[in-house]
Amino acid sequence: MSRDPRYDILFEPVEIGPVTARNRFYQVPHCNGMGRTFPSSMAAMRGVKAEGGWAVVSTEQIDIHPSADITGATEGRLWSDQDIPYLARMCDAVHEHGSLALIELTHNGKSAPAAYSREVPLFPSHIPVVGNAPVQARAMDRTDIRNYRRWHLDAVKRARRAGFDIVCCYAAHNLSLAGQFMLPRYNRRTDEYGGSLENRVRLFREIIEDAKEAVGDTMGVVARFAVDERRGAEGMEFDKEGREIVEMLAELPDLWDVNVAEWVNDSITSRFAEEGFQEPFISFVKQVTTKPVVGVGRYTTPDRMVSLVKNGVLDMIGAARPSIADPFLPRKIEEGRIEDLRECIGCNICVGWDHMLSPMRCTQNPTKGEEWRKGWHPERIPRKAGDDKVLVIGAGPAGLEAACAAGQRGYDVTLAEAAEELGGRVARESRLPGLSAWGRVQDYRVHQIRQMVNVEVFPASRLTAGQVLEFGADRVAVATGARWRKDGFGRAHQFPIPGADGACVLTPDDIMSGVVPEGPVLVYDDDHYYMGGVIAEKLRGDGVEVTLATPDPVVSSWTDFTLEQHRIQARLIELDVGIEVNARLAAVGDSVATLACVFTGRHREVAAASIVMVTSRLPDDALYRELAGNAERLCDAGIASLHRIGDCHGPATIAAAVYEGHRFARELGAEPADIPFKRELTELAAEFALP
Ligand code: ADP
Ligand code: SF4
Repeated sequence: MSRDPRYDILFEPVEIGPVTARNRFYQVPHCNGMGRTFPSSMAAMRGVKAEGGWAVVSTEQIDIHPSADITGATEGRLWSDQDIPYLARMCDAVHEHGSLALIELTHNGKSAPAAYSREVPLFPSHIPVVGNAPVQARAMDRTDIRNYRRWHLDAVKRARRAGFDIVCCYAAHNLSLAGQFMLPRYNRRTDEYGGSLENRVRLFREIIEDAKEAVGDTMGVVARFAVDERRGAEGMEFDKEGREIVEMLAELPDLWDVNVAEWVNDSITSRFAEEGFQEPFISFVKQVTTKPVVGVGRYTTPDRMVSLVKNGVLDMIGAARPSIADPFLPRKIEEGRIEDLRECIGCNICVGWDHMLSPMRCTQNPTKGEEWRKGWHPERIPRKAGDDKVLVIGAGPAGLEAACAAGQRGYDVTLAEAAEELGGRVARESRLPGLSAWGRVQDYRVHQIRQMVNVEVFPASRLTAGQVLEFGADRVAVATGARWRKDGFGRAHQFPIPGADGACVLTPDDIMSGVVPEGPVLVYDDDHYYMGGVIAEKLRGDGVEVTLATPDPVVSSWTDFTLEQHRIQARLIELDVGIEVNARLAAVGDSVATLACVFTGRHREVAAASIVMVTSRLPDDALYRELAGNAERLCDAGIASLHRIGDCHGPATIAAAVYEGHRFARELGAEPADIPFKRELTELAAEFALP
């Protein structure tokens, strides 16, 4: 297939100072939970993006000095020459595919509590560090500022030695000293770095000038700047100082990478923002500079990208999440394979696992983070290892991905689904408020499956154990999902909640199947991810009076990791949902629920004609257990292996179900391994082992 000429403009080269990007696709810096801790994984992941056509491939934050130590976060580091080799490995991986490697240098000021280095954090003025650790950053004196410029410059020079083509001077996300100096609420200085806007911008100007002077003939120098903080007059505003700063420095950098701070405003989930949500804030930038401009907004639609370029909003399409969900997005557009795009669903599971300090994962892309340690490529999968016939039972995210990936390997696959529609929990959940983009998980896979003659799909086919045994499959994957529990068992309750067996008690499954309970409703959330909040929102939309109670101090507490918590709480408050925090559900009575304070145990009653229990789930594994319980029958039926995958194996995220489905397909025909991936340190130790 060839490219649609409408998209030609996306494949024009863009000059970034002395270097040239081969097209307009720019993977902006993004955390990945690998960084310096899992450097081989990080390098391979970046290399795959270059292979997929991103002309610029960036690092995550790279801290430049022990006083910039952001230990806790799994980012990059460039303190000395000893840090060059692992970064060089990334550059090599990017260059191998003809892309440019970009490094984002940072000193995080009060966001760098220096837990490992034990240095005193630095800042424009005295201030406690972020979070609640008993640590303060101290006001930098002139020597500190001179040192900071020197550290930054040294890092720039080292970056060039590592092989980077572009250096990014960072003043975004409210995370870097250069940006923090600009903000009057932080900068209370009276010297030449405080007071007037010119003074507050001085440091940013200086590090850009230093970089240009040192490496400007060979490396592009990018200014990454948050033009707005969405906190009104207290912060940066795009139509006030945000604009003035771009005007002041307009022609200084070789490219402007602009966005909205903080990270919660830059990577908003699809539940709270549409594709292109940053445009109102960043569209002025091209009017005040002749340098190329890159911006983000979870762009996955090629026509939208074209219009951004044609309308003079952006020169390059920036992406973090869309490049994670589909590292081959540019190549697919280039090859005219639009229908193969695996669009980001905007769930922020990637962000969540970075915050969990572990290698990133992605709901849409099960190979993310596995490029090096498992050798999984997002677009290539080994041919089948034999002529086994594969039966997958259940077409939720696990079953769909299993059938899709096994089909891509060339196996003959049958996918049986009890319901009329495919998609399982994804189909159900994507009808809840704000979650429609999640339907892309099923849309992508159903489309892929439909292209394959070797995959047969049978909807409305609930299989029994007898039918499975008679089917004649060699390999069987049971992907029958999970159901929400009604008894209240969860994190705060290891015994059924008294009264939970009453008729007034429902689960999210009931609500998703269309039950509108009698109000007032108490949604009891001991799950802490999105479901409790979404159910409360849905029921309010149905006109029901709702209270959400949770043992945690805030609603949907885990969504802090996905950058959503404050938005969810705000939305529920706006919707007039009653909120009861630090409250365990002690008992369910007749039109009343008894809540117990998690600290004092004191009881209090709230009116509740119905309760929706959002606590935990149980695998729907009866079919699996029946089949697994009789090895002889399996053997007689010719079934060589039986697996349970996804929520039927262990109820978890949609991302986990997709991963399990993919893993099943990848491992077909392979010997099971106790440790199914390479580890960084053991591989390194092997390199240095004595003969
Ligand atoms: P997962 O997240 O693990 O993919 P889901 O709950 O989304 O799990 O999907 C499980 C799917 O399995 C549901 O669509 C359900 O209708 C289907 N299913 C359950 N039992 C059977 C069965 N015996 N035969 C066929 N499909 C089944
Ligand atoms: Fe997009 Fe979700 Fe994947 Fe992140 S995890 S890239 S938000 S689909």
